[in-house]
Amino acid sequence: MSAAGPSQGAKAPSGGSAAHAVTSVGAHVQPGATLGVMGGGQLGRMFVHAAQQLGYSTAVLDPDAGSPAGLVSHQHIRTGYLDDAGLAQLADVAQAVTTEFENVPAPALARLAQQRPVAPGADAVSIAQDRAREKAHFTRCGVACAPYAVIETAEQLAGVPGDLLPGILKTARLGYDGKGQQRVATRDALATAWDALQRVPCVLEKMLPLAAECSVVVARGADGQMVNLPPQLNLHRGGILAVTEVYEGNLPHARAARAVDATKSIAEGLGYVGVLCVEFFVLEDGSLVVNEMAPRPHNSGHWSLDGCDVSQFELQVRTLARLPLVQPRQHSPAIMLNLLGDLWFTQGAERTPPWDRVMTLPGAHLHLYGKASARPGRKMGHLNLTGPTVQAVRATALQACALLGIEPF
Ligand code: ADP
Ligand code: MG
Repeated sequence: MSAAGPSQGAKAPSGGSAAHAVTSVGAHVQPGATLGVMGGGQLGRMFVHAAQQLGYSTAVLDPDAGSPAGLVSHQHIRTGYLDDAGLAQLADVAQAVTTEFENVPAPALARLAQQRPVAPGADAVSIAQDRAREKAHFTRCGVACAPYAVIETAEQLAGVPGDLLPGILKTARLGYDGKGQQRVATRDALATAWDALQRVPCVLEKMLPLAAECSVVVARGADGQMVNLPPQLNLHRGGILAVTEVYEGNLPHARAARAVDATKSIAEGLGYVGVLCVEFFVLEDGSLVVNEMAPRPHNSGHWSLDGCDVSQFELQVRTLARLPLVQPRQHSPAIMLNLLGDLWFTQGAERTPPWDRVMTLPGAHLHLYGKASARPGRKMGHLNLTGPTVQAVRATALQACALLGIEPF
């Protein structure tokens, strides 16, 4: 079923056989074929759901037997991300491959790309894996980021400009949900923090006075066409996304438009194919500063599953399969509450959160990721609230917070 689509612009990937080149760049991968995903987390699970809804079979590569995406996929290849046999099997069964987390080793994507279309490409993913390269890319695209310095050597540590303090020291690689970060106020604290981070390559970012945070999800096709979800207003707690609000007026129009334009230029500058999310800080003076990007669907875009006619996961499927992109239309004001593992504990005792009560709320859409055990800070699921008006959605979201023990916002 991996029928060849229009072949204009198709080029045989280096190392690919003639047979494989049929489904290469430019060719559609028709529903009914198999799509692959590197990584088995919740984002992979929701990609699998969207792919299956469109009639695709799916293959997930993830070493964990209980991975959220592996549990729901037609096939689950249980190997490491750099395992030759596993990668060969994935390339064999899947007509195109995407990734659900940015830390998938770039060589694994490059290996798959010898045989199959891979979106996003290894180059874009490897830039997003490294905060220093990511910031250099933002700057190249003319999008301002927080003042920062790269710290890879003791000399660079000593030469850090004093006006970056107080700041946040972040590992250049492998950070997520606020992990791999330390707030530092003085040069001494900076040196101690770098030691504590094993002196791995880091960036020191100036601590900025944030008025708010927002993000934009775009999808860019292989033909360069781009569509976007409306900008998302995000509340983080303890470095982890807690609440996303999406409705008319969540951000002033001009600011929302600037965030969309900046995101599009960042995607364009990467020659990106796939779903890309860019996170921004809104400073107290109203200006926008880019924070980071994710080369995949993003937690802040989960509301689109219930508030929009095309979700970010369907966009991922469409870009991967080279299907047409249409501009998503938000049909309802939406609020997403992240469900962290903390909710599974009250006064130290484990519990099942009161889903039955939450589901009496109109417009409440529960998404649980099928993770076997809850831990504080672990993303176990999310709750989307939709409704006819912003006031109605806010009211039900606050009721859900009260029922679940989430701090109101
Ligand atoms: P992660 O990759 O873990 O999401 P981020 O760099 O996005 O890391 O930081 C997590 C959160 O910490 C941000 O969403 C923001 O709330 C806060 N934060 C990060 N950098 C800064 C900064 N330079 N100034 C102020 N707050 C920041
Ligand atoms: Mg972040």
